[in-house]
Amino acid sequence: MSDTDFIPQMRPLFGAAEKAELISYLDEDGFFTEFERTAAFEKAIAEFTGAKHCIVVNNGTVSLSLAALALGVGPGDEVICPNYTMIATPNSVHMLGAKPVFVDVEPDTLILHPEAVRRAITPRTRAIMLVSANGRAPSAAAGGIEAFEALARETGVALIEDAAQSLGSWYADGRHIGRAGAIGSFSFSAPKIISTGQGGALITDSDELADKLKRLKDFGRARGGTDIHDSIGFNFKFTELQACVGLAQMRQLPERIPRKKAIWQRYAEGLKGVDGVQLFDHDTRLCTPWFIDGRFERRDELATHLKQQGIGTRTMYPPIHRQKAYDLPGSHPISEAIGREGLWLPSMIQLVDAQIDRICTEIRRFYGA
Ligand SMILES: *Cc1c(COP(=O)(O)O)cnc(C)c1O
Repeated sequence: MSDTDFIPQMRPLFGAAEKAELISYLDEDGFFTEFERTAAFEKAIAEFTGAKHCIVVNNGTVSLSLAALALGVGPGDEVICPNYTMIATPNSVHMLGAKPVFVDVEPDTLILHPEAVRRAITPRTRAIMLVSANGRAPSAAAGGIEAFEALARETGVALIEDAAQSLGSWYADGRHIGRAGAIGSFSFSAPKIISTGQGGALITDSDELADKLKRLKDFGRARGGTDIHDSIGFNFKFTELQACVGLAQMRQLPERIPRKKAIWQRYAEGLKGVDGVQLFDHDTRLCTPWFIDGRFERRDELATHLKQQGIGTRTMYPPIHRQKAYDLPGSHPISEAIGREGLWLPSMIQLVDAQIDRICTEIRRFYGA
């Protein structure tokens, strides 16, 4: 890619390693549905995150629905969700007939505050969907992830981690994000740090939950090839083709993590002191910024200006209570402000430094800095 070509905000990166894995599989005359490659991909994720079990499913939305189902969420139950997240988070429980209850996020981390969550708990609350936005952990000032674990223990409300944006990010105590909740969920959709086109994964240390999740994704049976069903289950299985791609992507993850951090650092330096620009902070010792996120004055004008210069951006998630799909009353000032000013800059792994510099120069020019 020459540095004057259009720079998209995001593009997945697949190459020779994925091709080689796929071709070697095609030579084996397999069934294409999940089997040994899928088991190896699950093992790679379990080892990387340190979780006892990993179960892959067809995407990172269904994974959240299955996590909620396995933890007993059903019709009429309330599930606390951040008002700033990808719409998949609340929709995943809406699908079960449960009611997402929206709570605003903290301004620095874009993550729920444990005390705000506590205030939203009612006798019908069954679970909390904790979204680690862009690989960030709950702030230390708010008690860190431990405050959420304590809240879950104290109230009996299940903690589910929507860690879709957090593969390659850790809590201060060394646990990978996704391991503090009863179940943690990841996504391998096209924009994520690694992708299988579509795909999701669940991690847990509980043998019982792992068994439930395996049955839920496979018609309620403990293993394939039989027609004996002890419980209700569905079909959310993976394919070997996705697993081939996933295995090749997992091998690249250790290089992608430092590169993502370096991309963020270069932006942070390039945009330092620009009036009207506020990148969200990252503790890059622990956190791998997946997207470059920030608040920008005159955001829409900036996006138009950058587009004219051949630079793609994406507006950050609108506040969910204002989305037509939910259209709820109430005021959530932080997520509303993100809806007005939040913008993702080009964030793909294949960005080169010259492109980042060009983007920063254009942004500085826009603000007259
Ligand atoms: C990407 C994402 C999802 C949805 O994952 P899919 O694999 O696209 O279904 C859910 N939650 C968050 C926070 C995400 O970023």
